[in-house]
Amino acid sequence: MACCATEALWQKRLHEAGVSALYLHIPFCVRKCAYCDFSSWATSPHDPLMARYVNALERLLTEVEGVGLLNGCQTAYIGGGTPTFVGASLAQLVRDVRAAAPQVRELSCEANPDSLGDELLERLKDAGCTRLSVGVQSLSDSELAELGRIHSASQAQTRLSAAVAAGFDVSADLMCAIPLQTDGSWMASLAGILACGVGHVSVYPLQIEDETPLGERYGTSEPAFNDPEVQARRMELARERLVQAGFERYEVASYAQAGKDCKHNQAYWTARPYLGLGTGASSMLTREGYVALQSICPQFPELSDGVSRVRLTCIDGRHELPVARSMADLHFDLEFLSEVQAAAEDLMLGMRLVRGPEPGLVDHARKVIGGSAVDGTLVWCKDQGLIRKSGLRWTPTDKGWLLGNVLYGKMWDLAS
Ligand code: SF4
Repeated sequence: MACCATEALWQKRLHEAGVSALYLHIPFCVRKCAYCDFSSWATSPHDPLMARYVNALERLLTEVEGVGLLNGCQTAYIGGGTPTFVGASLAQLVRDVRAAAPQVRELSCEANPDSLGDELLERLKDAGCTRLSVGVQSLSDSELAELGRIHSASQAQTRLSAAVAAGFDVSADLMCAIPLQTDGSWMASLAGILACGVGHVSVYPLQIEDETPLGERYGTSEPAFNDPEVQARRMELARERLVQAGFERYEVASYAQAGKDCKHNQAYWTARPYLGLGTGASSMLTREGYVALQSICPQFPELSDGVSRVRLTCIDGRHELPVARSMADLHFDLEFLSEVQAAAEDLMLGMRLVRGPEPGLVDHARKVIGGSAVDGTLVWCKDQGLIRKSGLRWTPTDKGWLLGNVLYGKMWDLAS
């Protein structure tokens, strides 16, 4: 009986027409960082394209609100790029999100220290932004220079402290296994951001991507500073330091004080549908959500019977988006997932969380994929030390995260 009730709840989630989370992408930056392969372009602060781009996002927002997609939306995140680079337009965009999705309880903006002045802090607060996620990466000036960041360590600390004092929930991003970094400088960066009073920290190992200045400099040379053992040690040092400071790890790269976890990012890892607007932005919609969006996107094909979930990525660039009069003018990459693929994807994403995938999801996956396949995979991962059973839940181990490609790959293999 309990199992049927859980499956009914899971089915309800998988068929919600509205989205839980909204993402808006601002693809502009002052300068391109040396490691960055995100959808972002360097431009002048006076580039009129930025205001036209934001206006286009506002039009699209009004349009998707009109078909009810945002009715149950709980969180919004304006990311980039550097959203704070567009200045007062960002505060107006926050207001527009508030108007389009009034029940949003967490509204985050990504920020860089060099464009997060006192005046903008005040405007964002007034507009209804609740959370700032600040790209710091390091508190060593020489490491920041190697990364091509344009802010200094002291500027980062000053702006973090100002954001905390202004009453925002503040998160800082830090990067490990970067050029010039030592264990000591990594610990100093962690201590420095903690001293600013942030309630959330995200830590990532540097990924050296092709077609970036760092990729060109280091190619396939596997530099010692980025060695997998260095990455693992620095991530472990971060865990020890942040836990000691009263933070709880809730995702492989995310730590928070009580109640300060990022609700928006958790939507991505718990099978909640989300809508992304802007160049390069992705959405994940249920069948029902896709049909709702199709009513304003006649360019979308009809769904075939076996489709349970649709992933969409807007492929229009920063110049095309401002001239789009409506969603109907945009272009998307579309990916259609079956019920089996959706369940495997949800298991894979759930393994990023400390608490692992929800038991209801595991039961649902057994039902649609097959009990022996799912159980066989879980037991194999347990035997390899990648996951463990904690009460009713399967949770990832430290080894599972260190060998994330293996763990996530095994879950995704269930799709086939
Ligand atoms: S600020 Fe962020 S998005 Fe912009 S170039 Fe640097 S890493 Fe990329």
